[in-house]
Amino acid sequence: MTKSSRSNKKTVHAYSVGFGFRPPYQILMDGDFCKAALEKQVYIKDELPFLMGDVTRLVVTECILQDIKSKGHDFTSAYILAKKSEARRCPHKDSPVSSYQCIRDLVGAENKLHFCVATQNPKLKDRMRKIPGVPIIYVNVKQQGLGLEPMTEKSKQVMRLNEMEKVKPLDKDTLRIKRALFSNEEEEGKKTESHKPQPKKRKVKGVNPLAMKKKKKKAPPAPKKKTDSSATTEKK
Ligand SMILES: [Zn+2]
Repeated sequence: MTKSSRSNKKTVHAYSVGFGFRPPYQILMDGDFCKAALEKQVYIKDELPFLMGDVTRLVVTECILQDIKSKGHDFTSAYILAKKSEARRCPHKDSPVSSYQCIRDLVGAENKLHFCVATQNPKLKDRMRKIPGVPIIYVNVKQQGLGLEPMTEKSKQVMRLNEMEKVKPLDKDTLRIKRALFSNEEEEGKKTESHKPQPKKRKVKGVNPLAMKKKKKKAPPAPKKKTDSSATTEKK
């Protein structure tokens, strides 16, 4: 087993434990990914199950197909490959949007449908990294294979909170931290650091979710009765 396949296995395991990913893994891919895979002769139908360690399902949307088609001749093979994949419904039935926008909307703020996003688009990758719990797959051009990005810090934090939540409901403060991790992502293009995220962030930092360890079931607190004092009070 190579070093990278070992780390992939670990990453996939983390996504399944922390975010409930289950095979068959849905690989939502865009045209650039298809094109790069074809150019580098990466047989994604064989390589993806190997990368993820289990059954995968290639999925696209109507927007993605139209987007690829609109790119013309260079993308013909990519289009054919994408066309053979399973179609997923998206919210743009009446007015198709770019692959970037479609994938962004489909994944949403929480990736509830557990998509793995396969793309070569740096902007889309960047966007997906801001959302906790989105595995990002890419064609490793140098090695002529596929890669799975390591989990982001944000994903790791949410993963730990999810694990804590399994044991017992989160208290108010921790729940607020979790919500902040999901809502922190800004609309692209708009404000970055400048606007005023600072005070919010500071609030979040109050409790470090990583510092909070899972607690085992506590034994009920020991009875406080002190026989001596109760004896003295009874005297009165
Ligand atoms: Zn769409």
